Amino acid sequence: MSDCKLRPHHGLCIRFFVGKGYSPEFTENMKKVIAELESGDPVLTLCTGADVICRACPNNICGTCRDGEKVAAFDNALMDLCGLEEGQEIRWSELTARVRKCVTGPGKRAGVCGSCSWGELCDSVNDKCADKQ
Ligand code: SF4
Repeated sequence: MSDCKLRPHHGLCIRFFVGKGYSPEFTENMKKVIAELESGDPVLTLCTGADVICRACPNNICGTCRDGEKVAAFDNALMDLCGLEEGQEIRWSELTARVRKCVTGPGKRAGVCGSCSWGELCDSVNDKCADKQ
């Protein structure tokens, strides 16, 4: 993976991804990025700007998210909860482990990205995972 920037809250988006997204291009890129993260376990740089997921998103307007302030708040909430900092370098496996550990339990997901339009879907995926444990 040549571009290793990742918005912290995308650790949650990836965790709950079930093949749905903003556009076919978005979901294809999401699948590709997830495959690269899982196979290569790269070192990522945490950022609160456009990243490898945003690059194929229709909400990415010339490198800036249409929901800029809202998603930056998601990033900051996730970093606070998981003890992470913007600019920090972290291996994918460590990031996803921290997200899993720190954003588990009633209300935790909503505390990070409660106003996201995909929240209901993420909660249903989370409930199904909890049923299997
Ligand atoms: S909605 Fe915004 S933060 Fe989310 S992937 Fe699209 S451009 Fe990136």
